[in-house]
Amino acid sequence: MLEDYFSILKKKNTARHWLASRTPAGASSLDGLAEEELWKLHGAAMAAWRDAWEAMAEPPLLPGLSLLDLKSELADLMLRDCRMCERRCGANRAGGETGYCGVGAVSRVASNFLHFGEEPELVPSHTIFFSGCTFHCVYCQNWDIAMDARMGSPADPAYLADSLREGMRQGSRNANFVGGNPDPNLHTILRTIIALGDDGRHLPMVWNSNMYTSREAMDLLEGVMDVYLADFRYGNDECAYRYSDVSDYFEVVSRNFSTAHKRGDIMLRQLLLPGHLECCTARIMAWVAKNMPDVYFNLMFQFRPEYRAALYPEIDRRPSPQEKMEAVELARRYGLSIY
Ligand code: SF4
Repeated sequence: MLEDYFSILKKKNTARHWLASRTPAGASSLDGLAEEELWKLHGAAMAAWRDAWEAMAEPPLLPGLSLLDLKSELADLMLRDCRMCERRCGANRAGGETGYCGVGAVSRVASNFLHFGEEPELVPSHTIFFSGCTFHCVYCQNWDIAMDARMGSPADPAYLADSLREGMRQGSRNANFVGGNPDPNLHTILRTIIALGDDGRHLPMVWNSNMYTSREAMDLLEGVMDVYLADFRYGNDECAYRYSDVSDYFEVVSRNFSTAHKRGDIMLRQLLLPGHLECCTARIMAWVAKNMPDVYFNLMFQFRPEYRAALYPEIDRRPSPQEKMEAVELARRYGLSIY
């Protein structure tokens, strides 16, 4: 469990993004290439990256463009017709439009600090909180930054890379991109990692997301993210729609978990919602037991009825001790090791 992550921390292997920075893009210039051509280059470069990762290769510095540059170019292109998450708004963010999340072309950072409240394996975790979110959860605990993408300061990748360097000097074990949600900020995150360069050789990257990420964005994350610190919140689409205003939740999120499972370490977070043991927690556990029984499963009991939860009387309370005990017993029955 978390084998890659610890291998990078112990410097037995390099972080994925470092290898991507030394994998050739396959072209001396990306200028004027159509998106389709860029994706073809990406497919070929990722094949080379996978071979190198398997061989634990440590290639020399590249004279030209890297796979990481290519990914950044594709993320920038996506800003013109946004498909960073499965809402697929198609907003021309590069042209000044915003979509459902409200995030523009320039990401905004609400806070950026060494976080000691994450899972023990991650702390201290250098956590960058972006404003705006692709979900609008009625019980959001970070609603002040998640619901208003105008909060915080404009993100500067060079500055963020410098702050990651400073965090490493202070003992950070990883870079943790969250919000809100990291998805609308993929372009900024990639540029930050490029700006970090060789200094991030042994700094694992953490994608701290609701996992409503689009397929294309998931493909850009491969070879960059080492850990998916990922919420699996709802066991059915009705609850997801009622509380987070999202459609096709289970299909999209389970698809992305299956994808991430092949591409990095997963730390799954399941927040027990009051009254949702059978319809959500149990169904998620059943899916995990069937599809990835060995996964790091963090069963979380810290739900508090914040933001607009009072408008939904059935969740306007904390989970009861009985519900918590039953959730633990369910995990045991499904054979899951919970954390
Ligand atoms: S990231 Fe934002 S703008 Fe882009 S598809 Fe998702 S909600 Fe829409």
